[in-house]
Parts: sequence; structure tokens; C-alpha cells
Amino acid sequence: EGKLQLVQRHVRAFPDFPKKGILFRDICPILKSPAALTAVTDLFEEHVRSRQLQVDLIVGLDARGFLFGPLLAQRLGVGFVLVRKKGKLPGATVSVAYDLEYGTAEVEIQEDAVAPGQKVLIIDDLLATGGTLLAACELMKKQQADIQGCMVVIELRDLKGADRLKPHIFSLLQY
Ligand code: IMP
Repeated sequence: EGKLQLVQRHVRAFPDFPKKGILFRDICPILKSPAALTAVTDLFEEHVRSRQLQVDLIVGLDARGFLFGPLLAQRLGVGFVLVRKKGKLPGATVSVAYDLEYGTAEVEIQEDAVAPGQKVLIIDDLLATGGTLLAACELMKKQQADIQGCMVVIELRDLKGADRLKPHIFSLLQY
């Protein structure tokens, strides 16, 4: 069995969660399997190395980007920084608001998290409409970071999130 098949076997789908009509992709089984989690990290690392991406920092999105990001950062020998939902980070922060289906949300980062010109790779578990990653990219622009790309375990292709994002998107699995 290949690494990608191993990862795919550890993603479950739950209909009507968190509300009716949504098919929720659940990555919890990946974390429960050391082999599957290693495979995800291997595949991300292989992508960075094969594309010869230059990375100074991995930027992870609240909350499931925090599960995969630090593992990749360790492999690459770089640091990890957190983009959090508003109100969770101490000290001076920079924030970006974005639209949800109903209402708005805000993500933020510590002002000193990224230095101007640093090369960053943004990571999350899943790309749906792209709103969350787009907001993270806006934050990175405010920090004058040099975005090398975005990486997700799962991309929901029908929602065309990748079309909203300028940086290159790499996904392991597409539905
Ligand atoms: P977007 O902003 O519409 O692209 O939604 C992506 C964000 O919502 C990510 O942070 C995901 O963790 C979360 N999300 C949306 N749909 C799912 C799903 O089916 N499974 C797991 N997370 C999801």
C-alpha cells in the first residue's frame, strides 16, 4: 500500500455535520494511526523538497493546522507559528476579518511572529471555500511575508477554493 492510499484509508465522512447537507471529512483516524500520520508528514516533506520550496517558517491554522504543521516544521528544521481565532493570543496582534456563510470571523497572529521577507508555507487540514486560507494569506501580506504556498491534507474541489487563492495550493487528497 502506498502512502497516499494509507492516508486516504484514514479519512472518514460524516453526513449532515455540523449541519444538514454538509458531508464532514474527519481526519481524526489519521492522528490515531502513527503510520498514517507519518505518511502525511512524509508526503508534505517530499512536496517541499521536490519543488525546492524555500521555507523559513510553517504557519498553521487554528485548529487542525496545529496538528500537522509542527511535524512538518520539525522535518524541515524550521519554526512553526500559529494563526488563531480572535482573542486567543497574548501581546500585540494583527488580525483579518473574513466572511462566513452566516456572519464574520477573525483570525490573528502575534505581531512579532513573522519578519518582513520571511518565506512561509501555510498549512491546514482542509480547503473548502478557501475563506480561511485567504484570510491567513491576508495576514501574511500584512506581515510582509513571502508566501511560498499553502498545503492541506484534503481539498474539496467542488467548492473551488483554490481559485480564490493566489498562492499555489498543494493537497494530498481531493474529493
Ligand atoms: P473554508 O474556509 O471554507 O475553506 O473552510 C476550511 C476550514 O473549515 C478549515 O479550517 C477546516 O478545518 C474547516 N472545515 C471545513 N469543512 C470541513 C470538513 O469537511 N472537515 C474538516 N474541517 C472542515
